[in-house]
Amino acid sequence: MTDRTLAAEAFEQEGEILDAIEKWLERDVRPHVMRLEHADEYPVEMVEQMKELGLFGATISTDYGGLGLPAGTYAKIVEKIAETWMSLSGIFNSHLIMAACVERDGTEAQKALYLPRFATGEIRGGLALTEPDAGTDLQGIKLRAVRDGDHYVINGTKTWISNGIHGSCFALLVKTDPSATPPHKGMSCFVAEKGPGFTVSKKLEKLGYKGIDSAELIFQDYRIGADKLIGGVEGRGLQTALGGLELGRINVAARGCGLASAALNDAVSYSQIRKTFGKPICEHQAIQLKLGEMATRLQAARLLTYDAARAYDKGERCDMEAGMAKYFASEAAVENALESMRIHGGYGYSKEYHVERYYSDAPLMCIGEGTNELQRIIIARQLIKRNPI
Ligand SMILES: Cc1cc2nc3c(=O)[nH]c(=O)nc-3n(C[C@H](O)[C@H](O)[C@H](O)COP(=O)(O)OP(=O)(O)OC[C@H]3O[C@@H](n4cnc5c(N)ncnc54)[C@H](O)[C@@H]3O)c2cc1C
Repeated sequence: MTDRTLAAEAFEQEGEILDAIEKWLERDVRPHVMRLEHADEYPVEMVEQMKELGLFGATISTDYGGLGLPAGTYAKIVEKIAETWMSLSGIFNSHLIMAACVERDGTEAQKALYLPRFATGEIRGGLALTEPDAGTDLQGIKLRAVRDGDHYVINGTKTWISNGIHGSCFALLVKTDPSATPPHKGMSCFVAEKGPGFTVSKKLEKLGYKGIDSAELIFQDYRIGADKLIGGVEGRGLQTALGGLELGRINVAARGCGLASAALNDAVSYSQIRKTFGKPICEHQAIQLKLGEMATRLQAARLLTYDAARAYDKGERCDMEAGMAKYFASEAAVENALESMRIHGGYGYSKEYHVERYYSDAPLMCIGEGTNELQRIIIARQLIKRNPI
């Protein structure tokens, strides 16, 4: 088969997947978003449908029962879903980061045991890095794992963990040697399933991102087999977690595009319906300037996101590209949401419209998977590294 035939097949496959997602969103998601969002209710039925669509295995390789999608297709799926209800994308995103940690760095036994069950959604979960006293500065975590024969005993707290209540398994970042210098050499990552000593202490209340559970997790003498240490070697945990976050940042960028796009689409429609001073507001130049800026911002965000996904798919180091995409697309989401709200006037502030949701969901994109302050630092460091004098 020629390269061109392969490319055409991949394109066709991507089109079919995106069509299936669109039909599902139209039929089973859109009619229920407002109700679930306002009740902050976990979308149990949608999760079952997401399993059938294969979303929990979207980026897991076909060798382990996943769809094996490239990051480029995955980003388009995420954008589409986030356009409709951003919270849904969080249910499989951190799950797929956990899967990426196992697939990239796990032992063959760990891959064989977990990846097929992650792919079907039989086991679902996420990524547990953040602690009450450490988020950006992950080397400052305190969760401690002490070796005890063929087990480790873990004590401490994780917070803000997405899927913390409804998920049962997490890529868990711990300190195996708190005295190590540099500190990351004393950090390790486990595939940790809930069990005695691993409990949820509370559901966290949030400004937005409703429907999906964010929780604090407590570990009290939680015993975990040494065979659950990802890769079987201590000291590589931060590297494993950061490797998984490259995909996570492309996902957050795609979510930002989805929100920026939804905010724009709603503004384009509303501005043609709403009339002031005898004409639709889209005919006022002040509104046109906003629409023009919003559309350009969205397009730039998309191109950066696809560029980062392309680098990821080529297996290149892409923390700079993923950082740029995540930074720009999340800021685009915030700006487009606010501009859309202004265009909607008082109705933009009402729960009858979707805009207030975009407005409260968008800032999370600036915080999650590494804050935008951190992204700019990563970009700058890579710039210097790639351009030595
Ligand atoms: C809804 C939600 C869901 C989340 N889901 C998860 C999850 O599933 N798993 C998980 O592990 N975590 C999750 N998080 C946590 C999230 O990743 C952290 O909140 C984020 O990494 C920032 O950490 P922090 O909150 O501790 O802020 P801090 O690290 O305390 O930062 C505070 C401020 O200081 C800035 N700052 C810090 N260091 C520097 C520096 N060197 N230079 C310049 N500025 C700096 C930051 O950018 C920020 O503006 C979630 C958070 C939220 C709100």
